[in-house]
Amino acid sequence: MRITVIGTGYVGLVTGTCFAESGNHVTCLDINAEKIESLRRGVIPIYEPGLTEMVLRNTAAGLLEFSTSYPEAIAGADMIFMAVGTPPDERGRADLTYLFKAVESLAPHLPEDAVVVVKSTVPVGTNNKVFARLNELTKRQCHVASNPEFLKEGAAINDFQYPDRVVVGVRGPDIAARLEDLYKPFLRNNHPFVVMSPASAEFTKYAANALLATKISFINEMANLCELLGADINDVRQGIGHDRRIGFQFLFPGVGYGGSCFPKDVHEIAGLARDAGMEPRILAAVESVNQAQKSILLDKILDHFSGALKGRRIALWGLAFKPQTDDIREAPGLVLAQKLTELGVDLCVYDPAAMPNVRKEHGDRFRYATGQMEALQGAEALVIMTEWRVFQHPDFAEMKAALRSPVIFDGRNLYDREQIKKTGFTYYSIGRAAVRPEK
Ligand code: NAD
Repeated sequence: MRITVIGTGYVGLVTGTCFAESGNHVTCLDINAEKIESLRRGVIPIYEPGLTEMVLRNTAAGLLEFSTSYPEAIAGADMIFMAVGTPPDERGRADLTYLFKAVESLAPHLPEDAVVVVKSTVPVGTNNKVFARLNELTKRQCHVASNPEFLKEGAAINDFQYPDRVVVGVRGPDIAARLEDLYKPFLRNNHPFVVMSPASAEFTKYAANALLATKISFINEMANLCELLGADINDVRQGIGHDRRIGFQFLFPGVGYGGSCFPKDVHEIAGLARDAGMEPRILAAVESVNQAQKSILLDKILDHFSGALKGRRIALWGLAFKPQTDDIREAPGLVLAQKLTELGVDLCVYDPAAMPNVRKEHGDRFRYATGQMEALQGAEALVIMTEWRVFQHPDFAEMKAALRSPVIFDGRNLYDREQIKKTGFTYYSIGRAAVRPEK
């Protein structure tokens, strides 16, 4: 099959590369000429484990190409996937400008029987609008399907190649059959191909992200309550997670969710509810708990230093919104880093992957360390904001020697309290009592 993917960001590049990997001829299109040029040179603009090798392999095999030209990329395509960004606009609602610009650019070149597939996360009803606009521009009935994407950054290739399910929203069985044929190589483990209306497919994506965000805010609220009532959230997590009705996934206490999806998608579905005249009480609570959770460590830091932060040297590990990615969109680590610098903290930051992105956006606002231990030199405390694996088994003796005072504020509950007790650190985490060195 000949496939064009419009928008070569996280989703577009992974989608295009995985379709090429299963033998299709794929052209990834983007309006960002610098990005396309870099991809043609084999330089991958994002950090995603395994992606570089796969891009290089498929480009060398002639199955994957990159283009900035709509006429060239669209001509001869059997399916055109739209994976442009739908970032929040100034009201926090999904901005569909990029999507409709792309619709206008592709319409003049759209082959007669090609299927346009909306993969971007879009408000319910967008497929109908794309369908109407394309019909208007082409003066014929076009095929427009929805196919929301559920991949996670950091595990995107695996998620795409072994999806729990593939969801498509279509107007008829013939289009569903064509999409099922394309996805067949990824569903050999008998995971389902779920067919529904375009509106339900669009809604499914928001419902999935809203539920995952709800789990995060739920466990964070429980964690905060644990602290007040003298319980330990890690024990409670074990106690509930083994119940098969509950499970462990997305029930990690922390410093709130961030990234390019959950914040905007929860906000969007709440907005869609209000547009429809319904107050989304659960979603409103999920958002407000998350907002407050991003400051939970700041409160602990302020308490520990009796409110006096000006001029203090503090180290911060973890700026990506989660491990295995360099994505810093709405990252809790950056929110805290900014608040600390506003309070006059002399902040030295380190992240294994996200430093170039942070530097690009924030310039000299922070001091940047070249390694995790270097960040600690002379600092009065360490703050941990992302659960990168390299932070999980550090040499505590080396850390203690580097820090001016042995204090850790752990926003991801990386360490065992009993183990920390032996190291002589003062240790604050989420939903658990602080550990103080024995006198
Ligand atoms: P991104 O910002 O990484 O990439 C979007 C790309 O679209 C950019 O390279 C941009 O230059 C390009 N673009 C914009 N307008 C264009 C146009 N008119 N023609 C061609 N290219 C154009 O975005 P992303 O993170 O890949 O997200 C894309 C969509 O997928 C969003 O709707 C997002 O909500 C959704 N989604 C993202 C993830 C994720 O983990 N990132 C997961 C599932 C779904």
